[in-house]
Amino acid sequence: MGVLVMINRPSADAAAHRPGAPDFEEADPASPQLSVLDLAATRGDGVFETIAVGDGYPQALDHHLRRFASSASMLDLPSPDLAVWRRAILEVVDKLGPLPEATVKAVMSRGIEGDGRPTGWVHGQQSPDHTRARTEGIAVVTLDRGLRHDVERTSPWLLAGAKTLSYAVNRAAIREAVRRGADDVIFISSDGFVLEGPTSSLVVQRGDTLLTPGIELGILDGTTLGSVFDFAAEEGLRTGYAMLTAEQLGEMDSLWLVSSGRHAAPVHTLDGVPRPFDSELNLRMNAFLSRRQE
Ligand code: PLP
Repeated sequence: MGVLVMINRPSADAAAHRPGAPDFEEADPASPQLSVLDLAATRGDGVFETIAVGDGYPQALDHHLRRFASSASMLDLPSPDLAVWRRAILEVVDKLGPLPEATVKAVMSRGIEGDGRPTGWVHGQQSPDHTRARTEGIAVVTLDRGLRHDVERTSPWLLAGAKTLSYAVNRAAIREAVRRGADDVIFISSDGFVLEGPTSSLVVQRGDTLLTPGIELGILDGTTLGSVFDFAAEEGLRTGYAMLTAEQLGEMDSLWLVSSGRHAAPVHTLDGVPRPFDSELNLRMNAFLSRRQE
């Protein structure tokens, strides 16, 4: 069931605060906490972050909080009071106790329609075992996302690049991958450029360089990706951004889908074709991601 705190002051907007309420309170995750009228439930209208916790440390917390605020701004939500959210996340991490790996999910919805006050909560729980994906790798299919690579600029109302609660499409893409005998997905833009996974960023290795698609492609600014680039610096590898086509993926030395909970999952099969990956580099990358303390 994990640990839950409900946030009483999700936004920095003083007028929206319930007078006298503490900033957040622990609540029972096994009991109902959310109104059926909450826009999180009725419209998927809100934003979230999933933060990995390794040996009691929330990883890349500053980056997650920055992205949380940026997603809220893209949805015209009130700006979250990040000091309150940080304390709530640390409280949940503390209450989870000494687990080797956990994840903490911070959610802010638009609240109850017409109420004008966001709803917020933070829930933490033990992570599933990702050893197999991290060590043996995953099978991935490429799927058309149906949006052009420049959608963030041309159609900002589509919220490409925001981490919104509306993940039904992302889940449907993973079910499609499973129907095709694979584990995960790399989305391709409708004009042919490689983007990201439904819950992960793409990293490719070409020689002594790690590359990723740029964030101006309507994709998330991945926190794990940021850490992978720190790892590259430690390894003496170069890093950069590249507009890659699906065909070019086949020419890369290694591919990974990287994300907060699963860390780095190397791709052993792409669209049904087996492919190699640098297993030594993969092990070092995952070890780096597991021991991050900031
Ligand atoms: N892209 C999408 C669409 C995601 O949902 C996620 C994480 O859930 C990522 C990328 C990777 O982000 P992070 O490394 O911060 O977990």
